[in-house]
Amino acid sequence: MTAPGTINPADRRALEPVKASTPDEVKAAVAAARSAQLAWGALPVFARAEKIKALGQAVLAKADEVAQVMSSETGRSVVECKASELTSLAPYVDTAIAIAKQVLKPSKVRLSALDFPGKKGVTEPVPRGVIGIIAPWNYPLGNFWKSLFPALLSGNGVVLKPSEHTPRTGAFLARVCAEVLPAGLVGLVQGAGEVGQALVDSADAIVFTGSVPSGKRVAARAAERLIPTSLELGGKDAALVLADCDLDRTAIGVAQWAMHNCGQNCAAIERVYVEEAIADRFVEVLTKVVSKLRVSTGNDESDLGPLQNEAQLGLVEKHVAQAKAAGAKVTTGGARVGPGLGYQPTVLDRCTDDMEVVRDETFGPVIAVVRVKDAEDGLERANDSRYGLNGSVWTSDLERGAALLRRMEIGVGYVNNHGFAGILADVPWTGVKDTGPGVAASAHSYGVFTRPRTVIIDSSKNPDPWWIPANADLGAFADALIARGRGGGLGVLLKLGGLAKKRVAAIKALAR
Ligand code: NAD
Repeated sequence: MTAPGTINPADRRALEPVKASTPDEVKAAVAAARSAQLAWGALPVFARAEKIKALGQAVLAKADEVAQVMSSETGRSVVECKASELTSLAPYVDTAIAIAKQVLKPSKVRLSALDFPGKKGVTEPVPRGVIGIIAPWNYPLGNFWKSLFPALLSGNGVVLKPSEHTPRTGAFLARVCAEVLPAGLVGLVQGAGEVGQALVDSADAIVFTGSVPSGKRVAARAAERLIPTSLELGGKDAALVLADCDLDRTAIGVAQWAMHNCGQNCAAIERVYVEEAIADRFVEVLTKVVSKLRVSTGNDESDLGPLQNEAQLGLVEKHVAQAKAAGAKVTTGGARVGPGLGYQPTVLDRCTDDMEVVRDETFGPVIAVVRVKDAEDGLERANDSRYGLNGSVWTSDLERGAALLRRMEIGVGYVNNHGFAGILADVPWTGVKDTGPGVAASAHSYGVFTRPRTVIIDSSKNPDPWWIPANADLGAFADALIARGRGGGLGVLLKLGGLAKKRVAAIKALAR
């Protein structure tokens, strides 16, 4: 097996290796980001927002160049790289900025004048410091948007750790950041898991996107340091196809969201539960659509790229072989294609619940079709999974579809579509079970980027009536407060006022 990130997966052309960072280099990147963060974090949100807008524009100005870099290390066509990772960038930035302006507003502490005389308080979000962003290889640029923008908008420094399989796209992004943002604010470290671990050892919070085993290791390491993490892990999305669906559109939609990025998408449709009544016809149309898709053999204008790395290709072959041996029927695909790591878009009919291709994440161009009795049967099987990221129901009865979707164990669901919410900055990208507890994008993601700090100012000239000494008057005062809590009327309030005055006088006497 070749070292990670050293060939173009479409045609095995050699790529110049990228040097891994040393532990000292990781520490230095975090230290530089920490020092740049001090001035950055002190800027008002609108000033940071202007810079982030400029950052988005600077990436778009180099769209051709970055798409070329991405294409060289993913094997996907330049067209596909642009379409899936750059077209949504400008609206993404605008929405991320609008969200930040809302979320980062301070909120007033509610303080009643009777209980807390002369006091006011405010809770304000404070940047955590340096956010380590550890990314996978499947969307080597787009995967950063959901964490890079909110991290910077909330006043943090950032250190990026791209996947060792796609280091050049991450390096490109870091270079553009360095051109637009203060020196050192966005650092870059390169390498595999041990470099990621070193980053967990020195950053103030971690956003991790990757596999379940690595995510668990990151969580354990971060727990040792008591730093917050957001973990966005694997998926095994299900589509529930009902007998009343628009069959042609459904077949094309399922193919789209199963094959997008060669299935190397955490929200790829990997399992299709189709009602028996239309299963023959559905499989026939799905097969027709999937068999027309072209795989890249060297950065041509193909519909999908190859697998990004040899381990991934091996996993796809293993899942297909195991399914075939257990009785699944290959209706199209099922073999390697091209000089690189290409694999034919594949449909497996008559899959069963116990097959690896139904149970485990395949992350490749394979659709496992499971025929089910009815919608309830399909829903039960869809939920019988260790993952739960996106899910979909395909039907002409939109209300019934939405009701079924609400019973799916997932974070994002669609009736008659799938997956595209990943490019929307205001949809919380999250899931259940082994998909991990992380929430990416939207206002709901800010817990990892900021902590709440409260500042209370007391301008009262008097001590508060519940301060020391704890004498009989305090007992009477406490009883009056409890009586008020139980719904006591004006009489209780007047009594409280009198007791409070008496208490304040007694407390003041302590100092004389
Ligand atoms: P991976 O876990 O092998 O690697 C992900 C990143 O983590 C890489 O940068 C890697 O170097 C680093 N890493 C590995 N071990 C580490 C450790 N112990 N400490 C710190 N960092 C470590 O995953 P992958 O193969 O690159 O990515 C594919 C996986 O990512 C799939 O399971 C896919 O579903 C998932 N994914 C999830 C989402 C989501 O939003 N839920 C999005 C994209 C990909």
